[in-house]
Amino acid sequence: MLGLMQNFPLTVSMILRRMHSQYPNKTVTTLRRDIYHQATYAQTVARANRLAGAIKLAGFRQGDCVSTLMWNSQEHLEAYLAVPAMGGILHTINARLSEAAIQVMLGETLPRLILVDETLAPVLRKTTLPASVQAVVVAGLHKDAQQLDPAVEGIPWLDYETFMASGGPEFNWPELDENEACGICYTSGTTGKMKGVVYSHRSTVLHAMSMLFADGIALSEHDTCMTVVPMYHAHGWGFPYASCLAGAGQAFSVRQSDPKTLAALIEYAGVTLATAVPTVWINLLEKLRSGEIKPDTLASLKSLPVGGAAVSADLLNGLLEYGIKVRHCWGMTETSPLGLVSTRRSWLNDTQWAEMSMRQGLPQIGCEVRVITDKGTLAPEDGKSTGELQIRGPWIADAYFDPDSESRRGGENCFDVDSQGRRWLKTGDIANISPDGYVKIVDRSKDLIKSGGEWISSLDLESAMAEHPAVHEVAVIGIPDPVWQERPLAFVSLVDNWDQPQPDFAAFLEARFPRWQIPERFVILKELPKGATGKLNKARLRQITNSA
Ligand code: ADP
Repeated sequence: MLGLMQNFPLTVSMILRRMHSQYPNKTVTTLRRDIYHQATYAQTVARANRLAGAIKLAGFRQGDCVSTLMWNSQEHLEAYLAVPAMGGILHTINARLSEAAIQVMLGETLPRLILVDETLAPVLRKTTLPASVQAVVVAGLHKDAQQLDPAVEGIPWLDYETFMASGGPEFNWPELDENEACGICYTSGTTGKMKGVVYSHRSTVLHAMSMLFADGIALSEHDTCMTVVPMYHAHGWGFPYASCLAGAGQAFSVRQSDPKTLAALIEYAGVTLATAVPTVWINLLEKLRSGEIKPDTLASLKSLPVGGAAVSADLLNGLLEYGIKVRHCWGMTETSPLGLVSTRRSWLNDTQWAEMSMRQGLPQIGCEVRVITDKGTLAPEDGKSTGELQIRGPWIADAYFDPDSESRRGGENCFDVDSQGRRWLKTGDIANISPDGYVKIVDRSKDLIKSGGEWISSLDLESAMAEHPAVHEVAVIGIPDPVWQERPLAFVSLVDNWDQPQPDFAAFLEARFPRWQIPERFVILKELPKGATGKLNKARLRQITNSA
């Protein structure tokens, strides 16, 4: 017998309805060109109504894709709500990708409409748009719409505010199937070809709900959340939707993520929780330490879920001294992205927790993880045995987008099926699991260094180096070696105020690593190259090394 409960669809429309009925007075603050703009959730929903109406008038049909090429902003949040809730698929384009990459993606998703931020319009102008595009809508214009070229190659370019106003004040949101696609996001291709991940309404809502769990991100109505991680990247790590669902206030800085801008926004909007890759917080911590940012400005900030790359002990402990608690998270575009969250188990004492908090965390409630050794066996959870991390759960990808296949499903070799027919996503990350369930990411399989037949973890070397007071950022890669097959090579950028000679990093590492694991060379760069999501770009460092 089936259960006799309502089959209530978990859709983005449900998030929108809740914002409207429960939290109409909550505020979204957007900092654009040094000016703070604010809108309540009631106003945001009203604008989403109009936006949906306007998109429909532009020829949209249910199931169509609408692409955004936008920074984090009020308008992007409106698109996050309107497009899925009207039955569309929101394709968030990574603004830092090349025009060629953008063109490939648009050719695959064939959007009906493109919403673009004013500052990114020049990028789009250089791109040949697919014939599916009916109009380009430009957000954030500070001059009037007349300033826009009326059309490029027959496609009208419209001002967002004028376009939105053409939609009526009410929109009849359709009842949707929770398993329908609601968003598509391409992995940034740090280690290979870009792959499209297609989120469903159900996966999106469950992921947003999971961010409200007390033993997790614990986002609540009492928070004001500043999403710094770009909204084009894995739904802004799910924070915009989770904030809408929880009734948390929100704050966005358009394009700028330098410490001073963020500190000003934190103070203005009373931000309590903020999220970004470690680099953003390394920069902020440096300014706090140098006194350029006064701790008082950040008085409201309590919680920092940090992910995308490993968090060092220096960052974790350094921010704690200012009362800011870093919550280490792990995920990937394919995992919506929250897969692991570091929270304290009830039975751990302070010393055990200090050790465990350096691991990426526990499987988020709802997710299951396992580690498969290179022999294909299940690794014991002893904190040592390593292999590839695999994950399954309600917001984990089951296939990649393949526009050429009838089923649209591709990338079968990225998934594993166990003896009971359960599907696991192969993450490509090398990990081990402690007896208490804490997962440690040892490296990405492509970043592990094999020297003399033994593995060296680039992440371990980087975390240790980050503790040296001279180090601003560090990245370790493997370079070919005639004797050892590979040797580690470290690239370092130094903190601004380092006025002493180059430190002896090898000596610094000696206390923690056997000699054979320590790099022979430490190359100082003014700045380390970053990828499309602000993470250190090891592929670029390898290119530099190969061409040197
Ligand atoms: P891309 O693969 O294009 O860089 P993602 O943003 O999806 O795009 O990257 C996911 C990868 O980032 C993970 O597979 C993992 O290697 C790395 N990562 C994410 N969070 C962490 C973390 N807390 N510690 C170490 N690595 C992390």
